[in-house]
Amino acid sequence: MAGEHHSVLSRIKTVSDMVDAFRDEEQCRRLLEQMVWSRGRICPACGFRESCALAGRDTGAKARPGLYQCANGACRHQFTVTTHTPLHSTKLPLRIWLTAMWLILQSDKGISSIGLAEAVGVSQPTAWRMGHAIRLMLAREAQLDGIVETDEFYIGGSPRHNADLPKPGRGRKGRPRTTKTPVLTVIQRPLDLTAGAPTGEARARVVKNLSEIEASLVLEDTVEPTAHLMSDEWKSFMSAGQGFAAHDTVCHSQKDFVRGIVHVNSAEGFSDRVRRTIVGVFHHISPDHANLYFNEIGFRWSQRTVVGQVVRKTRKGRSKIKTVWDKIPTALQLPAALRSIVGRQMRRSEQGGISIKSNIAVFG
Ligand SMILES: [Zn+2]
Repeated sequence: MAGEHHSVLSRIKTVSDMVDAFRDEEQCRRLLEQMVWSRGRICPACGFRESCALAGRDTGAKARPGLYQCANGACRHQFTVTTHTPLHSTKLPLRIWLTAMWLILQSDKGISSIGLAEAVGVSQPTAWRMGHAIRLMLAREAQLDGIVETDEFYIGGSPRHNADLPKPGRGRKGRPRTTKTPVLTVIQRPLDLTAGAPTGEARARVVKNLSEIEASLVLEDTVEPTAHLMSDEWKSFMSAGQGFAAHDTVCHSQKDFVRGIVHVNSAEGFSDRVRRTIVGVFHHISPDHANLYFNEIGFRWSQRTVVGQVVRKTRKGRSKIKTVWDKIPTALQLPAALRSIVGRQMRRSEQGGISIKSNIAVFG
């Protein structure tokens, strides 16, 4: 990676470095343009790759720096670096956005909207919308490949019986029906375990229930058919796993946790992290917004590099392969965070909340 933005970002180590680097609005605009348009400026309306700067020209009023016009004769759309991105949902200065992103990425477990509001000097409702806009930007769309582990858990702890539902027994053995929200996690193991190699990406999704249909929907959406899937022997995974090039399972009920490369330790680690993050910070997470929080937790998981691998014994005496990681410096995570935001949009809903118009990057 080269360019002005990399040298600016690589010098940011502390909060005061960050405040200093993001003090000037013009510098923030240039940084954002370099990160969002890393492969060249692109029209957010039609995807055309040629456009001209309008700065200083008479476009009714004097055009401001950062305003561009699409050179496609049929389009002629005027745009800035925030047009058709989640950054457009507020009229905040770009330095506030970059500061908020840095603070969120810098924390291990995320920041509450109250904490963010105090840190950047906006109202709590604005901070809440900013947090969700940033989580929308952090969504990853690429399908996972190579060795992919999957795991399931419930938000809010162990399953709870619901007296109104039929008796347990039709689902997974020993796993009663529950009123809690089930979640599937999927992680890609690092392709390479030499020091400095990037970790794989991770996804988590709220599902309606732990049926085979729901498992298949999530796995088809997040995993390439060429992947080698690893899971436990839960019935829904057994059938959903048939759609992949290979599928190996571990049987937890028989104390079979690691068999050579066959294990789901990393997916369980990611599930633990999702669970702990939600318990620690987001006390009243709604299932509707949970997937947005998962974008943030998954992105944070991916922003690490391999240091090495060790085998550890757990308290129960089982061996667990543990990979040791280093976090990518926070400011250097920003280009990845901003790389594919064009086309992802959110709107204020009538209730003062937000609605996601599109969670897919259209161009970029
Ligand atoms: Zn255009």
